[in-house]
Amino acid sequence: MKHFPIFLAVAGRPIALSGGGEAALAKLRLLLKTEAQITVFSDDPAPEIRDWAAAGRLALTPRAMQAGDAAGAALFYAANEDDAEDARVSALARRDGALVNLVDNLQDSDFITPAIVDRDPVVVAIGTEGAAPVLARAIKKDLEDRLPSVLGTLARIGKVFRARVDALPFGARRRAFWSDYYFNAGPRAMAEGGAPALRPALDGLLEDHLNTAPRAGRVEFVGAGPGDPELLTLKARRALHEADVVIHDRLVTPEILELARREAVLLDAGKEGFGKAMAQEDINALIVAHGREGAHVVRLKSGDPTVFGRLDEEIEACDAAGLDWSVVPGITAASAAVAGIGQSLTKRGRNGAVRFITGHDMQGFADHDWAALARPGEVAAIYMGKRAARFIQGRLLMHGASPATPVTVVENASRPDARVLDTTLGQLEPTLTNAGLSGPALTLFGLAPRAARASLQTLPKQEAAL
Ligand code: SAH
Repeated sequence: MKHFPIFLAVAGRPIALSGGGEAALAKLRLLLKTEAQITVFSDDPAPEIRDWAAAGRLALTPRAMQAGDAAGAALFYAANEDDAEDARVSALARRDGALVNLVDNLQDSDFITPAIVDRDPVVVAIGTEGAAPVLARAIKKDLEDRLPSVLGTLARIGKVFRARVDALPFGARRRAFWSDYYFNAGPRAMAEGGAPALRPALDGLLEDHLNTAPRAGRVEFVGAGPGDPELLTLKARRALHEADVVIHDRLVTPEILELARREAVLLDAGKEGFGKAMAQEDINALIVAHGREGAHVVRLKSGDPTVFGRLDEEIEACDAAGLDWSVVPGITAASAAVAGIGQSLTKRGRNGAVRFITGHDMQGFADHDWAALARPGEVAAIYMGKRAARFIQGRLLMHGASPATPVTVVENASRPDARVLDTTLGQLEPTLTNAGLSGPALTLFGLAPRAARASLQTLPKQEAAL
């Protein structure tokens, strides 16, 4: 971030602007939405500026700006559509101590004005650091369509009511009240009786919320998918949006955690194969403790929570504590990995079954029905298989699998830094060790990348994205 977004207090403070043409008008239209004292310096002001001055909405000094004109101003805009004049006046304004913006000159500006969606007092500012004004406009349009025009009224009246809501305990119950107001009771009252209906609606709603029993906590076991935020389900997004506490695994990507409600508490229960980890009992205890406090706990697991996720132990802990729980499935790593290499997990005439196996379990390397897997045409998705690769290779070869059986390892499936190793059972080791993978990797036994995708291998790492 090269620019840090803030909301500047400008009510009653001076903002100065030099210029009188189109650029000045565009900025003034925005500035006139504020309660700042606006002064304009221009020897040739557009008629609109004269009109605004006549109406008392701004102060017009009909001459070019001079030293001292920006004294005390919080902000200064150089909007002369003339580089030399903009440079001259911005130097003067800086000397007067104002923060300076030169219109259409990001380089020399102290601040930039974002695209704004105005539902006063709700204001959304959109910035792209000057990189993509088109994008900012598109986002603005999208938000304009999405945010109901009554939002401003709801917020204004809600703000006056804030102190009364202190009667509800801080946290989940207060949030439930406001969410009910903004998304149910408020819009309904507006539709039925307009702004005057809002105050009685708030009174009634508070009464209702004071009389309802404290909410019981609940736990959602949510699949975060393989890493690409676009592979989250709508339910997962909703859960993240509503969570009070998010307890997540190490593999859940920052882009996905970013989607959690801003006030949500994020807790890392990161577990690494064979490595130091938070003990499962401690994770169970953490989930239960937050649930008991009445929190909406989202237990966020990579991929699908029902695949190698130790879900059952956590569910049993919830049951023992009498907590309500539900499961939101996700896209498992195997699905993302085959999608990336253009293959299917099952295929008519090749394999009517696919095994999801783990490379290691709590005892160490995991044993499986190797003889069955070694038969031609078998397909298996091997999770946590990096360190167990040599062991798995040895077992399969020992049980008669062909060394030529295709094996594909997909690292960071679905993510921008995805990598694909196209190899065979015979070559799995040392290929894997030589590749030095550092991200999560899924081994697809019995599958090669579809021919058109095989060329990915030859690309350098960052271009080999799936
Ligand atoms: N519940 C998860 C699996 C958890 S076990 C799921 O359904 O995907 C962790 C293992 O999953 C990792 O060791 C790795 O083998 C695999 N994995 C998870 N995310 C992955 C990704 N983005 N790319 C490749 N493999 C991944």
